[in-house]
Amino acid sequence: MSELKTVDAHLEDILTAVGPLAEIDVHLLEAHGCVLAEDIRAPGPLPGFENSAMDGYAVIRADLETASADQPVRLPVVGDIAAGASSPPAVSPGLCVRIMTGAPVPHGADAVVPVEHTDGGIATVAITRTPEPGAHIRRVGEDVAAGDVVLTAGRHLGAAQLGLVAAVGRSRVVARPRPRVVVVSTGSELVEPGTLTRPGQIWDSNSVLLTLAAREAGALAFRVGIVPDDPRQLLDILEDQLIRADVVVTSGGVSVGAYDVVKEVLSRLGTVRFDRVGMQPGMPQGFGTIGPDATPIFALPGNPVSAFVSFEVFVRPALRAMLGVSPLHRPLVRAVTRDPLHSPLGKRQYARAWLENRDGVTEVRLVGGSGSHLIGSLATANALIVTPAETTSVPAGSEVDVLVLERRSA
Ligand code: AMP
Ligand code: MG
Repeated sequence: MSELKTVDAHLEDILTAVGPLAEIDVHLLEAHGCVLAEDIRAPGPLPGFENSAMDGYAVIRADLETASADQPVRLPVVGDIAAGASSPPAVSPGLCVRIMTGAPVPHGADAVVPVEHTDGGIATVAITRTPEPGAHIRRVGEDVAAGDVVLTAGRHLGAAQLGLVAAVGRSRVVARPRPRVVVVSTGSELVEPGTLTRPGQIWDSNSVLLTLAAREAGALAFRVGIVPDDPRQLLDILEDQLIRADVVVTSGGVSVGAYDVVKEVLSRLGTVRFDRVGMQPGMPQGFGTIGPDATPIFALPGNPVSAFVSFEVFVRPALRAMLGVSPLHRPLVRAVTRDPLHSPLGKRQYARAWLENRDGVTEVRLVGGSGSHLIGSLATANALIVTPAETTSVPAGSEVDVLVLERRSA
């Protein structure tokens, strides 16, 4: 048997082959989760015009010098200004105008009195306080000045960032698109969840898991579903799917079984190589590029836990690199293991675990068994304990490296 390739060497080969996708001009709603590829400047100031911060009355402050709760000042109300009003009536001395939040402040007014400091009158209003100069008036440009860069290239576009882009009047941005990931499960034993199995058949869980893991990593993922262990059908699917894929992820068929067609078919395509990587689970790994656009393809092992760990260790960082976001990797923390660990020599082990903070101590314990078909325990893990290739046993109570899958209670 040949030497095992290290996890780091395999990851390096992958990250050398993938890079950020070419930037495109997209609508704001499609840019969600993408990385901005231009600086966004405000074409004008925000607020763009003086407007009221309160529902109340636009007044001339000098008219209200003597206003108090005991001796309110009464002013005739000469108009109403709603938000969206384009030509508000001006205010002259001794008069006022009722005004709504966001409505333009009329010419002549130098303060807004909130309705709470009045009797709320419509024809005339009794005002019980003297406002500060400029009270409750939002000034032009107090938020953003014309020409300000409100977001710089490289920013991750979440809800707040895209809301800001909309607020400065833009409907589109130049961003790096999400990688389109096509997920294919291979195996003649697989059937669609929700249908009946015959003896020897199982439900395809990998394509669901990998599609959603790719989405969680920020990609646009398509679940193509099941392809039987038949070289022709696999080739046909790949050819069809390459049209829309930035990345292809397959599972199954990469070990040394007689019907491991993924290995058989892909070894002949593009730059794909199959390696025995020094990790557990997930030793057999295929990676390379295929098709006219040199599309990266990951051929992951079929056992669900192997597929999942392979995704975490290799595919997720690659997708993040394509998105142009950092960090590429999940957080790695140190924690005290409550269970002793046993790990094969020469393989970096990723063990499903539960990480939590107890009385100020970050601790971790194994969940479920070590078999890579044990998807039941995968669903209860929030972390993976990483044991180095050269370590074979770790006593309980030792500090270990832990890859954090979710932040829930860690
Ligand atoms: P393979 O890598 O094709 O040899 O598959 C290894 C193991 O994983 C076998 O027990 C398969 O039945 C199982 N397996 C392969 N693909 C899937 C899948 N999509 N969903 C669930 N189990 C699978
Ligand atoms: Mg198989």
